[in-house]
Amino acid sequence: MLHNFGSINLDHVYRVPHLVRPGETLASSDYHVGLGGKGANQSLAMALAGGEVSHWGRISRQDAWARDILARAGVNVTFTELVDAPSGHAIIQVDDRGENAIILFPGANHGFTATDIEALLDACEPGDWILTQNECSALPELFSRARQHGVNLAFNPAPMSDAVNRLPLTACDLLFVNRGEAAWLAGVAQDEPAERLLDALSERLPDTATVLTLGHDGAWYQEGTARHHQPALAVEAVDTTAAGDTFIGYFLARRQAGDAVPRCLEVAATAAALGVMRPGAAESIPGRNDVEQALR
Ligand code: ADP
Repeated sequence: MLHNFGSINLDHVYRVPHLVRPGETLASSDYHVGLGGKGANQSLAMALAGGEVSHWGRISRQDAWARDILARAGVNVTFTELVDAPSGHAIIQVDDRGENAIILFPGANHGFTATDIEALLDACEPGDWILTQNECSALPELFSRARQHGVNLAFNPAPMSDAVNRLPLTACDLLFVNRGEAAWLAGVAQDEPAERLLDALSERLPDTATVLTLGHDGAWYQEGTARHHQPALAVEAVDTTAAGDTFIGYFLARRQAGDAVPRCLEVAATAAALGVMRPGAAESIPGRNDVEQALR
């Protein structure tokens, strides 16, 4: 089983002629709200990939519609609680030049405590995977207890922050990082070659397998001294939002189903490439049939 201890954010997107200036009140010409958050996106991707995934998360009672979206995609939402706290949300301004400015409020994503981690771990069978990102509270408790329960821990340290360096990262069995996150964790410059980033990561975390995604340069998998490169598919990118989430969800769902790493990488790269050809975040994640067709 896959358990995603993951953030759910509602994205409130406002179209404005320019980003709001200090003291200004500005009319917005368009508004929409959608499901977002790396946790929710990755649960959607795992379910669309055919994975059996439970989403452990929290949103406000008033926003039950967001949980319904996860459920309709096939995510088990038994542990997605509706609470009396504001949902995590982003207030996003997008101006006529495509520039944006974002306020992010973690809300219910930061309401988790050690007690919730115990409940999550008690529900896991040895060999299950727990995936998480850097958007929920109680990660130190999760990282320090996961190994005792015999579960596999996968971590996507996004969005990156100082708090990540204080986590006991050696508890992770699998790390999903993009170029910026890898450079931060490895303590090297972002423009270093991929091999240098991988060397530095394996020095810091020798027993943790790593998936390093590099946008249109594809992805690497590293485990011990073994490395495998997956090229990206040559496609016309329209919107790369959630490309990483799609890759992670498809990779982990296929890995949990028992596929060999090169196949997991190929499927994940294909799903992510289909995703970047479509606008939007969660709504751009392709379904399994589309991915299988593209793989033929
Ligand atoms: P993130 O969204 O976390 O920054 P990346 O930009 O590394 O992640 O993208 C994740 C994966 O999505 C890549 O490894 C690649 O397979 C795919 N991808 C991203 N951008 C493109 C692109 N322009 N063309 C084809 N595939 C892409």
